Amino acid sequence: MTHALRPSRRTERFTESVIREMTRVAREHDAVNLAQGFPDFPAPERLKNAAIAAIHDDVNQYAVTWGAPRLRQGLARWYTSRYGMEVDPDAHLTVTCGATEAMAAVFLALLNPDDEVIVLEPFYENYGPDALLAGAQARFLPLDPPDYRLREERLEALISPRTRAVVLNTPNNPTGRVFDEEEMAAVARLAQRHDLVVITDEIYECILYEGTHRPMAALPGMAERTITISGASKTYSVTGWRLGSIVAPAQITGAIRKVHDFLTVGAPAPLQEAWAEALDPVDEDYLAALSQGYRARRDLLVEGLRHAGFQCTAPQGAYYILADFSALSEADDTRFSLELTRTAGVAPVPGSSFFHGDGGRSLVRFAFCKKEPTLEEGVRRLRDFARAGSD
Ligand code: GLN
Repeated sequence: MTHALRPSRRTERFTESVIREMTRVAREHDAVNLAQGFPDFPAPERLKNAAIAAIHDDVNQYAVTWGAPRLRQGLARWYTSRYGMEVDPDAHLTVTCGATEAMAAVFLALLNPDDEVIVLEPFYENYGPDALLAGAQARFLPLDPPDYRLREERLEALISPRTRAVVLNTPNNPTGRVFDEEEMAAVARLAQRHDLVVITDEIYECILYEGTHRPMAALPGMAERTITISGASKTYSVTGWRLGSIVAPAQITGAIRKVHDFLTVGAPAPLQEAWAEALDPVDEDYLAALSQGYRARRDLLVEGLRHAGFQCTAPQGAYYILADFSALSEADDTRFSLELTRTAGVAPVPGSSFFHGDGGRSLVRFAFCKKEPTLEEGVRRLRDFARAGSD
């Protein structure tokens, strides 16, 4: 044991990802993995073929650090034609290793130690550690179930002279909320009034059941203070390809690109070509079928969960269900998740992973980005579990 190998202080303030931990536990117990949000079905042929072709064409070396030109052009077209945003591929776009790297790079490029960043709670677990790695302070704005609405006066009450940014994830993981026009306008208004940046995580932009996705950057006056993060992972079911994107004002793009360069140099070159292909032109039928397919899976799992005794609201977007299990067990979320994995053979994520303090103890999150037979098997196991519990 050497003192020299003590971990840095910054790593002591957060734990390993519980979501990925649950995937390991699910494997150990041969459970249906409804924990980590990754699809168990293939990516579209068009992407696979384009990736294979790029490898055959010897696209093996580093791409341009901030993204292959054809991909950045495709992304600029995507944002302009879909949402009316003015995006210059050379001044505003950075391609990253997934939205995960994008978020970390943005925090590191934007925040100084002691700056504050507001995070809506429940939240996707990365934002807390990202803030800590940047030395910044996360301030949490609790949203109340069952509707998880964002209330302007509560958000404003959290803003201090040190607040630099608000993180907004819509469609939301884990609540399934798609923030509506009024909520989006409230965030925009406060950002302008208090000179804040809005960092939006829009990775689920194409997985929608209700409402429409309107990027924060498309709201009047917001392009100059919004950093938009998204990626190919969820839209094209390629979470392992690690392809993310950042659209940011030119003023901060240089700093973001510097951080990204020294973190990863760049995203996988042949896979960037495949994403570029998917954007040239965009297959609208594929996108419509994506949401439609997920809607059927959502309904299957919501129904199955309710039948088994969970309380949950159907999500408006993304592919998660946050479910209250207090009618089924008095255990806390971690114990219940482990018990469900071991006994029922279905793995969820403990709810507390999406809260900073004591919240989420009677909640678990289920992901439904799985083949219908996988979900049917999960639902059958949950029903048996609930039945055994009530015998
Ligand atoms: N975003 C996915 C989830 O919430 C995957 C997380 C991850 O492991 N990067 O489950």
